[in-house]
Amino acid sequence: MTEITRRGFAALVGGAAALPLFGTSFASAARTPRVVVIGGGFAGATFAKYLRRAMPTARITLVEPKKSYVSCVYSNEVVVGLSTLKPLTVGYAALAEAYGIRHVRRSAVAIDPVARRVTLSSGDKLPYDKLVVAPGMAYRYDALPGWNEETAALLPAAWHAGPETTQLAARLKAMPNGGTAIITVPPAPYRCPPAPYERASLFAWYLKRTKPAAKVLILDANETFPKQALFEEGWAKLFPGMVTRIPGSKGGAVQSVDAVAMRVVAGAGSFSGAVINIIPPQRAGDLATAAGLTDQTGWCPVDPRTFASKLVPDVHVLGDAAASGLPKSATSANAGAKVAALAIAKLFAGRPVTDPLFINTCYSRLAPDYAIGIASVFGVDPVSGAIVVRNTGTGTSPLGASLGYRKEEAEDADKWFRALMSDTFA
Ligand SMILES: Cc1cc2nc3c(=O)[nH]c(=O)nc-3n(C[C@H](O)[C@H](O)[C@H](O)COP(=O)(O)OP(=O)(O)OC[C@H]3O[C@@H](n4cnc5c(N)ncnc54)[C@H](O)[C@@H]3O)c2cc1C
Repeated sequence: MTEITRRGFAALVGGAAALPLFGTSFASAARTPRVVVIGGGFAGATFAKYLRRAMPTARITLVEPKKSYVSCVYSNEVVVGLSTLKPLTVGYAALAEAYGIRHVRRSAVAIDPVARRVTLSSGDKLPYDKLVVAPGMAYRYDALPGWNEETAALLPAAWHAGPETTQLAARLKAMPNGGTAIITVPPAPYRCPPAPYERASLFAWYLKRTKPAAKVLILDANETFPKQALFEEGWAKLFPGMVTRIPGSKGGAVQSVDAVAMRVVAGAGSFSGAVINIIPPQRAGDLATAAGLTDQTGWCPVDPRTFASKLVPDVHVLGDAAASGLPKSATSANAGAKVAALAIAKLFAGRPVTDPLFINTCYSRLAPDYAIGIASVFGVDPVSGAIVVRNTGTGTSPLGASLGYRKEEAEDADKWFRALMSDTFA
């Protein structure tokens, strides 16, 4: 296969608006930095947009097979009928039109770090000077006996937003009054640490209204979880006796699942579920693994100042796929992408890169008018060089707050989500 030519590329790009950028051919591109971004999620899309601001003349190409992106953020609301996938879905037209990002609607299948070329699913090859890999996470289908590609259709994880979300919603709707909805939480790290507990809360909110004899059981491989006291306070206040959680030390780690018998075996025993939501163990997206960007943890080690891969030169890894020290969240993906955009612009210019500070804001909704939040500041530890949470500037919403306060937080959460989507994709 050949490198993508100007004409071949026109067949691949996402919109005519991208065409004015083809003022030069790849043959003359040596004079213009070529940056290829793989993955158009919160990390990749933010990076492409903010790199354009830092490098107005760079040739920036976004490789993303999907025409539009469906946000996992707010997808728990979809599972319980509080929202639909529509407001969570956004196209790439603004990135093309307003920022001159070329969208190639293909998957990246291989990286040649010596020739500095990406191979696309079409077989075409895309050259780069810097490559940014942001493919998100992938499920570990081999980690939990009984849960694999086939049984996942019966027990949807819904940890990728889209069809899985609607499948899980349908199962919850079909659940009888009186059964148990089981949510299994994998060992950290996994995408969005508080989201399983937000989901459990919204399950309880939904079941209390529609099937009040039903219960929610969380089988958790972990001992503690983010905003735990706030969640537990909310469960006691809003859905007393409905939510039970078994932590790792009490046998909460799931050992196997039977999709036909609808049973989950954990250290604490064997549990029957009317709905079983397996949130599986995770690792960096497939391309990261195939390209040798992952270590034994399944995630991609990076330099936290630039997000440069510690394993492959001239490749930077962003978002959930990176083992950066930041939480695997959309806010962190967005914040890290901005830091990486500035750092890469500085590297191209031969300027020094400074230590970053990151702010992660995280809201969780327990009911339509009841949300809790946490804001955390992360910085680079001068001794270890790793990203660590800073005690200063970090805080959670207070315990014992009024329902009015929680409603305000729910309204803030909505505003935060709209701002994040706009900052990333518009
Ligand atoms: C239920 C749930 C609720 C959540 N709630 C919140 C929240 O309230 N706040 C928050 O901050 N975060 C939340 N998150 C986490 C957030 O969704 C993720 O952290 C975020 O999506 C990570 O962004 P990313 O860009 O790394 O990956 P993704 O968003 O998954 O994007 C990856 C993109 O890469 C593309 N891709 C993959 N492989 C290839 C390839 N080979 N070639 C080309 N493209 C490829 C994919 O198609 C995808 O578009 C939630 C997650 C879940 C599951």
